[in-house]
Amino acid sequence: MQVFDWLIIGAGSAGVRAARLAAQSGANVCVIEQAALGGTCVNLGCIPKKLYATASQFAEQFTAAVGFGWQIEGARFSWPALRDHQQHYIHYLNGVYQRMLDQAGVTIVRGQAIFVDAHHVKVGEQVLQGKQILIATGAAPVRMSIPGAELAKISDQMFALPQQPQRLLIVGSGYIGLEFAGIFAGLGTHTELCFRQSLPLNGFDDELRQQLAAQLPLLDIHLLPNNLPVSIESRGNHYQVHFQQGQMAEYDQVLMATGRKPNTQSLQLESIGLQLNDAGAIIVDDFFRTHVPHIFALGDVIDRHALTPVAIAQAKCLMQNFYQRPAADWQVFDDKLVASAVFSQPEVATIGLTQQQAEQQGDCQVYTANFRPLTNGLSGHLSRCWMKMVVDKKTQRVLGLHMIGPHAAEIMQGFAVAVTMGASKADFDRTLAIHPTLAEEWVLLK
Ligand code: FAD
Repeated sequence: MQVFDWLIIGAGSAGVRAARLAAQSGANVCVIEQAALGGTCVNLGCIPKKLYATASQFAEQFTAAVGFGWQIEGARFSWPALRDHQQHYIHYLNGVYQRMLDQAGVTIVRGQAIFVDAHHVKVGEQVLQGKQILIATGAAPVRMSIPGAELAKISDQMFALPQQPQRLLIVGSGYIGLEFAGIFAGLGTHTELCFRQSLPLNGFDDELRQQLAAQLPLLDIHLLPNNLPVSIESRGNHYQVHFQQGQMAEYDQVLMATGRKPNTQSLQLESIGLQLNDAGAIIVDDFFRTHVPHIFALGDVIDRHALTPVAIAQAKCLMQNFYQRPAADWQVFDDKLVASAVFSQPEVATIGLTQQQAEQQGDCQVYTANFRPLTNGLSGHLSRCWMKMVVDKKTQRVLGLHMIGPHAAEIMQGFAVAVTMGASKADFDRTLAIHPTLAEEWVLLK
């Protein structure tokens, strides 16, 4: 039987980074992966999503170009071409991950890992032993529990559809639902988005949610708030959906973007008695230790901030603690400030506290800007750019930034550094603007 210093289950964002860092520290590491290397981000999440979102923005750019003197004729979109090109690129990325792990001297075992006991994992007929074990198995989409739910697609299936649907219903207005809405509406699919609440993007700043809800219809995304399906039926080559509010409608595809559940079921954790919380996530302490001392877990399977950079940073924190610090000096992973983006159309980006969260903590000041981007003057597009800065009234420290508009994610990445460093409103005010840009509004807020 092969014995490793680390058995790492899952070669996604968290598992790959952990494996490479442990191997660089001299450990004998094995990664077990049941699907493609790179995990959700590379194969079914961030990367294909961003490629499709980019494809979907061309239609708007073509109409904008006319205002700038261009004549665009005969532009046509091919779903199979986009699907095949992105699949080709993702296969290339799988190879990059394979090479990175090979070069780090990590052993890769293909198949599904199942715990035999607290030190042994079975993959097919092979049993592997780990002095330490890291569970980095991520999460998977879940469907609503209604009659016909199995007829709906989940996000994992959307990138490989044989053809582009002409009529699409998306259930759920979290970031994944919104991103798919932007993709398909941008590509010309009639897109409807139904959701439980009155506004999309639950958990984001309330005003941002209102501003976004006002802008989504400009891209022909039809909102069905306070309304969810109660059943789905197959009708030949389309689906009939009945809604809570009584209406019925027909679609070529239904996508359920109704949440994700940590991947723990296949591991047979009962055999080692690991504890899960109510959401099915593995319970860990501040250092990603489960209550079994040599078993760790991180990434989406612990259900904190389900984002790739967070999973990677958690893996780095664990391995730095493990190899570079005595146990008494282990550092807690700091996730108080997590910048994130929604690659919807228009784009959304945010860091720090919402106005509602800040007001619960104490007095705060709020600065907003709401303007028509310069380029829309010629393109004729009606979308607007909206920004909000939340400032602690006493200390003047910037607590949160929230933005809707073109390039919001790229802009927020830069300002996230300032917020993470503890910048004050005065620091923003004394920063000279770069003109003419959208981002300059952050340093001109009055
Ligand atoms: P994963 O990347 O999911 O890796 C887990 C791996 O474990 C998988 O490869 C799985 O096959 C494997 N596995 C599971 N069980 C077993 C088993 N028993 N045996 C062997 N292998 C197993 N994040 C962002 O930061 N930005 C984005 O723009 C973004 N967009 C997203 C869009 C979509 C549609 C989705 C679904 C997610 C998106 N995310 C995004 C989230 C991001 O993909 C995840 O947070 C990230 O991949 C988590 O990494 P992980 O290593 O914890 O899990």
